[in-house]
Amino acid sequence: MATYNPFETAQKQFDKAADLLELDQAARALLRTPMREYHFSIPVHMDDGNKQVFRGFRVQHNDARGPAKGGIRFHPQETIDTVRALSMWMTWKTAVADIPLGGGKGGVICDPHNLSQWEQEQICRGWIRQISKNVGPHTDIPAPDVMTNAQHMLWMLDEYEMIYGERAPGFITGKPVGMGGSLGRTEATGYGTIITVREALKELDIKPENTTASFQGFGNVSQYAIELYHQMGGSTICVSCWDQADQTSYSFRKKEGVNLKELLSITDAFGGIDKSKALELGYEVLPGDAWIEQEVDILLPAALENQVTGETVGKISKRVKIIAEGANGPTTIEADKEIFERKIFLIPDFLANAGGVTCSYFEQVQSNMNYFWEKDEVLGKLDLKMTAAFIAVSDFARKHNLYMRDAAYVISVDRVAQACKDRGWI
Ligand code: NAD
Repeated sequence: MATYNPFETAQKQFDKAADLLELDQAARALLRTPMREYHFSIPVHMDDGNKQVFRGFRVQHNDARGPAKGGIRFHPQETIDTVRALSMWMTWKTAVADIPLGGGKGGVICDPHNLSQWEQEQICRGWIRQISKNVGPHTDIPAPDVMTNAQHMLWMLDEYEMIYGERAPGFITGKPVGMGGSLGRTEATGYGTIITVREALKELDIKPENTTASFQGFGNVSQYAIELYHQMGGSTICVSCWDQADQTSYSFRKKEGVNLKELLSITDAFGGIDKSKALELGYEVLPGDAWIEQEVDILLPAALENQVTGETVGKISKRVKIIAEGANGPTTIEADKEIFERKIFLIPDFLANAGGVTCSYFEQVQSNMNYFWEKDEVLGKLDLKMTAAFIAVSDFARKHNLYMRDAAYVISVDRVAQACKDRGWI
């Protein structure tokens, strides 16, 4: 299987937008690479008495429109280029959602499956100790991402507050509710993705109750996306996930539609579904790639980057009308061309999954004023922001006869380049 470098993908996507916008050389040079990046070591006293050193990163791609913002992921195959790409996509995401933040991303090369809670706490606290001078509520605001959660964020916040000797709840988002977290944050990314799907269906004049969908991944994004999609009347035929024991992925299919509650009852905290229990409940257990070849109306990749590739794109059924990228960077450049040529309605990642960062922004606002909104208020504001962002991109795409990804890029890159110009940077 070919290997893909997500940073190269992100740069190629940016170059295309820069060409469309006829950006000058200085703007290109500034925006196609991160402004700052930090690489560091995190020593941890392991439970077995050994000491192990983990590698950590923080990349701040751009903060012209506001403090850098982006998650921290724990992953055994984490690379600096993945973090660079993700930080760049965060810049476009906060710009397309039109919130006053920039783009950043962090990571640690580690596998939480094999780490105790205490070992994970040390990694979180160590990460903050290495970078505390370069992040903060007015500089760079982290959040959870793949394999990190509210508990990790609270350990990080606590360490940061210990260093500075004061409370700083606006420093980090994705905190537990009751400890400065926002109601609705857990649901926000998945719900936000489905809000964009709802708007795309309206444009295509298709009723959600007449549609079916297939999801890659069954973690935070997919679980809440499926919840809202089912509330709208849609039916999910297939979901896939990573199987830690077998070190491979599987797809789980029920042609009459999966039951979310039932699937959640056999899923672990990492979004892994128990194969034998799924078989008992009447699910077909298929190879990992099967999610992409289902005869459905909507495909929703929500696992990792580089999953829809030149090798897998040909498997997409003729029936598919919408691809909503819940994950960051799930589609390679090669596959993207084919999706464009086949006229599938694509909702690009940094628009489709902007609900998470939008709600993180709401969390930061609530934390800073120490006044918390009811869940309905948060979700109502989320709906308004996501709908407005979707309509801005789809109107622009229609008006200028552009592919949805290109339209989203042009809007975002233009906003960020303008902020850099207004500040006198370029
Ligand atoms: P998660 O860790 O909660 O879940 C990930 C899911 O993907 C799990 O079900 C896992 O089993 C599955 N998976 C992993 N590797 C796989 C593979 N090779 N094949 C099939 N399934 C696989 O993560 P999440 O928070 O749901 O995030 C998913 C994606 O969405 C990531 O790309 C993340 O960067 C992006 N995203 C998340 C948020 C958020 O708020 N959670 C916001 C924006 C973007």
